[in-house]
Amino acid sequence: MRVVRSIADLRALLRPLREQGHRIGFVPTMGFLHEGHGALIRQSAARCDATVVSIFVNPTQFGPSEDLASYPRDLERDQNLCLEAGTTVLFLPEVAEIYPTGFQTHVEPGSLAEALCGQFRPGHFRGVATVVAKLFNMVQPDLAFFGQKDYQQTAVIRRMARDLNLPVDVVVVPTIREADGLALSSRNIYLDEEARPRALTLSVGLMAAKAAFDNGERDGAQLLALARQPMTAADSIQYLDLVDAQSLEPIQGRVDRTAALCVAAFVGTTRLIDNVLLTPSTTEGN
Ligand code: AMP
Repeated sequence: MRVVRSIADLRALLRPLREQGHRIGFVPTMGFLHEGHGALIRQSAARCDATVVSIFVNPTQFGPSEDLASYPRDLERDQNLCLEAGTTVLFLPEVAEIYPTGFQTHVEPGSLAEALCGQFRPGHFRGVATVVAKLFNMVQPDLAFFGQKDYQQTAVIRRMARDLNLPVDVVVVPTIREADGLALSSRNIYLDEEARPRALTLSVGLMAAKAAFDNGERDGAQLLALARQPMTAADSIQYLDLVDAQSLEPIQGRVDRTAALCVAAFVGTTRLIDNVLLTPSTTEGN
């Protein structure tokens, strides 16, 4: 595994690989890696000839009152995980490398960025779309891997790649969870013994709704009520929404197409997100 810090070094390393016809996979991250990131890297390593992982805590996707300064970091552990999961090139740029003085051009996502987290994190997806577009241009990957855990992010990035004709296939990898169902997240480190069981109620609620859906429940309000029940243990639910899996528009009434049930909540001062997909069987309605 090669570790590079500059865009010039990254390009110099990747150019010959591309010229030899190697398929390049890319996994953008903010570090403090866990097995969720590990799954993305492993999938890239399995499907591509070379895998680039970036670790960059992107300041432009954090709001003024968010946890940019305290975002957890452990570079040594991250390097070991990257190596073990099959990374070829680890890209560790500084902020000035990505946003040099005078930087002023952004990618502005559309309505997909306004639902769900967009209501509570103004500018977040603009920051995400901008940095991912820049990283795509630096790495020029054939495939890029993103986690379903950040469902809205996958929708925004997919749309951006299409709208801007970026020659990359966006691959979405299912959410990796602890044995009890809690979605792995770098921010889980903030959860103490008292908070962790309350954090678990998010996945418990989502899974209860999914189980009901799989047993035939199609009433959106009923599914939302089932999901919400255990979540009362969280400190505040920012949103719990049932949306069309493509457009992210709210589903009213009956769930007759693939839906995403998405939640964001605070447990103490820690903001957590999670989601499940509800997919009607293909024979339904026939
Ligand atoms: P982050 O470092 O939080 O920006 O995440 C980097 C990538 O890892 C994003 O595509 C996330 O969606 C993905 N990711 C984070 N947590 C998980 C998880 N539990 N399962 C699968 N992918 C994840």
